[in-house]
Amino acid sequence: MKWRTRRSSRVGRAAVGRALVHLLLAMLALSCGRAHLFYDARELRHQPLPPARDRALSAELAPRLAGRALVWIDADGKEHAIAPDEAGLRKLGLPERGALWLALAGGERGGETDVRVRVAGKGSVPVTVLQGIDGDVRVISPPRGGRDQDDKALSEEGIRDRFKLRGRLPGTWHETERRALTESLELLAPAELELVRRIVWDREGRARNGDESRAALYEMKGCRAVIYLYSSGVRADRFRFVGDPAAPRSAVVHAIVHEIGHAFEQAAARRAYCAAEKAGGRAGALIAEGNRLSDRSPVVEAYLGALAGLPAPTDYGNASSHESFAESYALFHVDPAALLRTRPAVHAWFASGGHLRALGALED
Ligand SMILES: [Zn+2]
Repeated sequence: MKWRTRRSSRVGRAAVGRALVHLLLAMLALSCGRAHLFYDARELRHQPLPPARDRALSAELAPRLAGRALVWIDADGKEHAIAPDEAGLRKLGLPERGALWLALAGGERGGETDVRVRVAGKGSVPVTVLQGIDGDVRVISPPRGGRDQDDKALSEEGIRDRFKLRGRLPGTWHETERRALTESLELLAPAELELVRRIVWDREGRARNGDESRAALYEMKGCRAVIYLYSSGVRADRFRFVGDPAAPRSAVVHAIVHEIGHAFEQAAARRAYCAAEKAGGRAGALIAEGNRLSDRSPVVEAYLGALAGLPAPTDYGNASSHESFAESYALFHVDPAALLRTRPAVHAWFASGGHLRALGALED
């Protein structure tokens, strides 16, 4: 009897806008009517916006917004109804118009886009664009005084000590990685943290398949479970953020917590595999049990009940029920408002500890 080897990670789709004047034609071809709200986790790559694009942006945006209600939440949290024409759009700042341009380029409605808009000479500005299924648009500026987190990052040893992680954190970790890992672990409930303490954390320059957009990977071979972080993935936070624009989190945190979600949903299978290693004569039956729990995770099964047949909150989550769970798990921790908006019943399930119960039920 052989155990399954499970490798699961999250690969974001990137939409590349070589210059803002180009429409993303491939995306337009893909677009279709959506029946459900979703969280748009694409990386909207773009060149820094030059101030000279100011007028042209309003002219390009106006036809796309025609007939749609547009509300802007300014840096003081005040709401303004904006006429979706050129004159109205000029009331918005360049980053807000850039965010609208990027978020609306795909032509799909219903999404939440957390985009870092790069503006020439000004770095990047986190802006959220929310689109209703009916096409209504809300654009949210980062609040005055809100700023990117730039606390001093803990050292590798500091992280290990603080969260009592087993094993090494090998190599020299980039500051962004250390900060993202610290922030990810801080988001976990004690029972969830306890679970990730027992797995191994590792770090590699890049994914073995050469995919540079991959930031992390969960790998389970029998009792041995590893979450890898890839340095190449730290670039993921260049064009997107997660959470609130007032306290934007790195997109790397999304990738890490997604992998923790896999570790969580595979914990029952792993427990059976670990028992098999100590069981001698009974090992075969325990491995078979592990394989069954790996395929049909009790956590994922309970989650699917809460999802009640709806699509995953992100497009990537529709790859499988395991990915759907990992994406919802990640959003619940890194951007709970996004999960509440897209899948309120799933948010309620997590908030009431449904995922912990589904795992805890196995302990006795
Ligand atoms: Zn995954």
